[in-house]
This record gives sequence, structure tokens and C-alpha cells, in this order.
Amino acid sequence: MNGELRVGLDIGATKILGAVIGEGGAVVAEARQDTRPGPDGVLETATAVLDLLAAALDGVLPPHIGIGIPGIVDRQRGAVSHAVNLGLGGDWFPLADRLSGRLSGRCGATVIVENDLNAATWGAHVLSGADDLAYLALGTGLAAGLVLSGTLRRGAHGAAGEIGHVPVDPAGGTCSCGQRGCLELLASGSALTAAWPAAGDVPPAAALFAAAAAGDPRAVAARDRFAAGVADAVRMLGLAVDPAAIIIGGGVAHVGEPLLAAVSAALRAQAATSPFLAALDLAGRTALLPGRAPVGAIGAALIGNAR
Ligand SMILES: [Zn+2]
Repeated sequence: MNGELRVGLDIGATKILGAVIGEGGAVVAEARQDTRPGPDGVLETATAVLDLLAAALDGVLPPHIGIGIPGIVDRQRGAVSHAVNLGLGGDWFPLADRLSGRLSGRCGATVIVENDLNAATWGAHVLSGADDLAYLALGTGLAAGLVLSGTLRRGAHGAAGEIGHVPVDPAGGTCSCGQRGCLELLASGSALTAAWPAAGDVPPAAALFAAAAAGDPRAVAARDRFAAGVADAVRMLGLAVDPAAIIIGGGVAHVGEPLLAAVSAALRAQAATSPFLAALDLAGRTALLPGRAPVGAIGAALIGNAR
């Protein structure tokens, strides 16, 4: 990076988080705005976040802007489609061109667009220093990103790491993907919310883990079911690609150490009857993303370096 600054935008359905990133992923400035849906809403919100970042830098934006956004991304064209929660449908939306057009005259920025999970995975690679990792995102859904031997694995069809849609329960409910009993129905933020609806302002994950820690038997059972599902995801990643590290992130990971303790206990329970699994030491390779750094924005800013 030679010390230059870059901008990363993490575009989500509820908010757009922007950050100016320095060497090694250091966050120099941060800004966020609630997302307005639709093509014009996304553009206006992204521009507002960039304005806030520019103001924090005496009005001058760095000339490289990386964007992580849900949906199907055409990186060559800087376009996105099927970002349903953002109000972007099946037509390609030329995000890089439209945003560059809005910024022209102010800065001749290069705009790069990447899938948001790939961006966050690259951010986890930068923050952890691990060259070989799976990033397990426990957000509304469940999916993993892969950096293998220093290279981001997007997949031949962009579906690498979509383990949330591996069916694990033939008697399970119907998933939004059309299959039955997907892992995402057991181990995801929405699964957790269904098992333990939020009360007040406390996020469901925090409420569930607090109630379990206080000894509520229903909460203990729900927590352990959830942790077993996350352990299933870790085991799938370990057996499919055998990464050196498995890093858990996403909104549910804000629970912190109690989440890691529950998942580690579930991994050890899985390995108790299998010397083969025990030898792989999946619990020893599983960690939480350090701190609350804006991993998606950091990765989006730096992923231009990714092969
Ligand atoms: Zn599914």
C-alpha cells in the first residue's frame, strides 16, 4: 500500500458504513448512514457517506474506493444485480460508473465493486494476518468466505462457501433457497431470533447467551442447539478445505467469548467419539474476529490487491 489511504464502503440493507483505511488496515476515519433502498437511494446514501469521510479528511477523498455489496457482482463492469434487500433486482446496476459520475469533478477515483462477503473475508485476512482461512459470517444468514494460500476463492460460479444451504435435516423446514432443512435454518442470526425473540433493545443473540449464562434451561437448550449448528458449519469447512484458521464474524459474533466457548464445547463434543476429528483440532483453529473493526469496509478498501 505504500502508506496511501483508501476508502472502503460496506453497503448493507440497513446501513452503509464507510471507512478511510491506512496501512495494515488501520481505520483513519469512519462514517455511516441509514441505507435508502433502490438504485438512486443506494447512490445517494453512498455519496452522503463519502461526503462525511471527505469532511474528515479536509475535503479530499483518496483516489481508490472499494465497495462491498450483497448480491451478484460483475467485478469487471463494477455492476451488481439481485441485491434484493437493497431494492436492486435482476437488471445489472452499474454502481461503479454511476458513483464515479457523481464524484467526477471532485476526485477522479477508481471505484471497485466486490461481493460483500468476499470483501469481509479479505478484511478478516488483513486483520488476522492469516493467509489461509475460512471466514464464517453469522449474520442474518450463514455463509463462509475463503482465502486459501493468500488467494481469495470466489468459486467458478461465485458460490464458494455457501454452506448455509447445505441441507442437514431431512425433516427441517423449507429454506428460502427452495431446499429443505438447510444449515442456515439452525445456525444464523435469523434462526437465533426465531428461537429466542428479542425483548426490548437487547439483540436476540446477547439476550439468549445472557439467559443461558443465568441458568435458564430453555435458553441453555437453545444456545447449545445454535452452537451445535455453528460447529457443524466449522466442521464442514474443516473437512472441505482444511483451512489453517476458521474465523467467526458477523453480527452474532458481537456476543464475543461466550459464543466462542459454546462453539468450542460443541466442536469438542463432536470430536469426543472420533479420534479422526479430534486429531484435526477444529476447536483449536476457531477464533473470533478481533475487536469490532469494520471488517467489510476494510476488506472492500484493500481487496483491489486480491488476485
Ligand atoms: Zn437453503
